[in-house]
Amino acid sequence: MQVFDTVAGLQAHLAPLRPTQTIGLVPTMGALHAGHLALVAQARAECACVVASIFVNPTQFNNPADLKHYPRTLAADLALLQTAGCQVVFAPTEAEMYPHPPTLQLAFGELEQRLEGAHRPGHFNGVGLVVSKLFHQVQPHVAYFGQKDLQQCLVVQQLVRDLAFPLQLRRCPTVREADGLAMSSRNRRLGPAERLVAPRLHQSLQQVVQNVQQGSPVAQAVAQARAWLEQSGPFTVEYLEVADTEQLRPVAQLAAGQTYAVLAAAQLGPVRLIDNVLFQAGG
Ligand code: AMP
Repeated sequence: MQVFDTVAGLQAHLAPLRPTQTIGLVPTMGALHAGHLALVAQARAECACVVASIFVNPTQFNNPADLKHYPRTLAADLALLQTAGCQVVFAPTEAEMYPHPPTLQLAFGELEQRLEGAHRPGHFNGVGLVVSKLFHQVQPHVAYFGQKDLQQCLVVQQLVRDLAFPLQLRRCPTVREADGLAMSSRNRRLGPAERLVAPRLHQSLQQVVQNVQQGSPVAQAVAQARAWLEQSGPFTVEYLEVADTEQLRPVAQLAAGQTYAVLAAAQLGPVRLIDNVLFQAGG
């Protein structure tokens, strides 16, 4: 496995490979877990050369404390990527990634007004900037993102369309702990009592699906699940919504056979958890 911290080094390595090898990119912020490794595994199955990037991107953090405490575990990450069969790691410094303070502002229309966009001002601008840079630097044929960050997947899809990046996107299913908690680098900051109740976020999403499938009105199912979650542990719910899967528009009534998402974000102790599940409305 080759590890690069400069764009020049990375590009010198990739340029001769690109004509004959499919290059897959897995962008990450490190503190890797099985969710990231599932992306690497899918990339390995489809690409001759897998590049994982590790960069805690300051421009996508709207909360300075979150950035300060974000786990950084480069040595362990490299060991995991090596075992996973990743061929190339790009782990740039902040100065390498942002030699000049960026001035470009990316906006993603109505998709950005909702959910994560509404609660984390500037977040998707930062995501768009760093993902655009990585796409230019690595020039992958295929790029892999996790459904855990569904709104991010949709923003990146819009970015690729709007700026005509010549690559394919793959969305990989959310990898969960045995108790249902969606894996996340931030989970390691949960205290033992918080970790015990954390899976209830996922359970609240499952409750919504179960109740609407049994005929409850969406608003009622959502209100019940939200109340249950807030009573079942020290959660502060930011949002819990049923939405369409294209623009994440809130949905009040379901059409049979259509696929929808239930998405939630909640603060639990020092950690902001997000999760979502997809479901197909019954008849
Ligand atoms: P992050 O390091 O959190 O920025 O995540 C890097 C990539 O891994 C993103 O595309 C995430 O959506 C994806 N990812 C994070 N957690 C999971 C998970 N539990 N299952 C699947 N993909 C994930």
